[in-house]
Amino acid sequence: MDKLQGRIEVIFSEVLLVCHEEGLLSGTHLSLDGLKLPGNASREWSGTFQELRLKAAKLQRKFAEKLAEHRRQDRLDQKRAAGDDRAREKAARQASLQRLRQKAERLSAFLKEAEPKEGARGNEVQSNVTDNESAKMQTSHGVVQGYNAQALVDEKHQVIVHGRPSGSGQDHRQVGPMLAGAKEMLALSGLSEELALEKAKLSADCNYHSEENLKACEEHGVDAYLPDNHFRQRDPRFATQERHKSREKKGRFGVKDFTYDARRDSYVCPQGQELTCQSASHGSGDGHRYRRYRAKGRDCAACPLRSQCIAGGGARKSLAIPLGGEPATRTARMRAKIDTAPARAIYGRRLAIVEPVFANLRSNKRLDRFTYRGQAKVSVQWSLYCLVHNLEKLAHLSRKYGPQGPGCGRSRLFTRLRRVLECLSRLFAGLCDLFPAPPLFSSPRKLTPLLLTPN
Ligand code: SF4
Repeated sequence: MDKLQGRIEVIFSEVLLVCHEEGLLSGTHLSLDGLKLPGNASREWSGTFQELRLKAAKLQRKFAEKLAEHRRQDRLDQKRAAGDDRAREKAARQASLQRLRQKAERLSAFLKEAEPKEGARGNEVQSNVTDNESAKMQTSHGVVQGYNAQALVDEKHQVIVHGRPSGSGQDHRQVGPMLAGAKEMLALSGLSEELALEKAKLSADCNYHSEENLKACEEHGVDAYLPDNHFRQRDPRFATQERHKSREKKGRFGVKDFTYDARRDSYVCPQGQELTCQSASHGSGDGHRYRRYRAKGRDCAACPLRSQCIAGGGARKSLAIPLGGEPATRTARMRAKIDTAPARAIYGRRLAIVEPVFANLRSNKRLDRFTYRGQAKVSVQWSLYCLVHNLEKLAHLSRKYGPQGPGCGRSRLFTRLRRVLECLSRLFAGLCDLFPAPPLFSSPRKLTPLLLTPN
């Protein structure tokens, strides 16, 4: 399987090189996103080891009950007259018993062979009996058992630079492997210098906003734009949109409603009560340092404005005033960066770069699920879809944007494309040997002469 993936990568790099020679790549802005698709795995066969052990015990119990019932019916049948109906009932009972036994044996074998899967925080995550490399993930269409197919897309003509499926529903750790994979792919294409990642910007949605992802961007020298979940609430352009209004704007008191008393280093609330300084400087999870002021509990308990002032069931009002300076964490620095006008403009291009790619693959190419099991096979399937997307880009755009006129590289283009088609036909032959294939590709060797016929 690794050999096959290696062959696809070589073809992918060839196509990438042709795309570059045809002027379809800029290397200035890359966008990353993921498509969560169901795999060839059953969601009901998911669970932690504890849950799966309980399921196995339940199956064993059910099997024992059915077996006892089957034997009882057998004894009754011996006393009754034989007939077609009796024979059919017996065969159905035996088939049902057989299915139940197979399920119980499969689950027991899985529990013996597999190890519990560990999540990012060291906790156990759900395993899956049918495809243990897939993951249960939340999507806009509900919960699916499948893969999170990632694609890194170039801005100029939405060519996919690198694609890789992941068996994790979270995007918090995807940037590192994707950038490393893109680097390898560019090196394979001989484009490491012309399309160096160090010269590129990377945009991705709020799901990618994490310390790990930002650290990976730093390590690869990429200029990252990975906003947090609340960046639109801070953006004045969305001030009139109800769903992007912050809690403060919905009527709750903010810092601006409190008056600072410099002489006493305290704040006075709208009810005239004093909030005194409790902590001169303390850090928080967002990487900033704050100065904290608190009201007295007895003042807030009797206050008629309490519902406008205190969130949740807090006993008294507390204000955290940022101290300024360079934030300590990467995520805090990213929040400060994304709040600037140039960063907002760069991030605003993300949607038009990466989303049409997924729309094409999902709607036009009808990719609505992965049909193979295991990360390696799914990786082959995803790479082939990415490859087809790039070939389609070449077919549609190369004539328009490539070099024009006699002797301007067209013969070189056709030579390269012919080489790609040769590789692809050999690849399909290999694929049919490895996988049970749909009828379209069941006889790829018959296609080969057609693809290789000189024009
Ligand atoms: S809840 Fe407390 S801090 Fe807020 S207005 Fe009332 S007294 Fe002042």
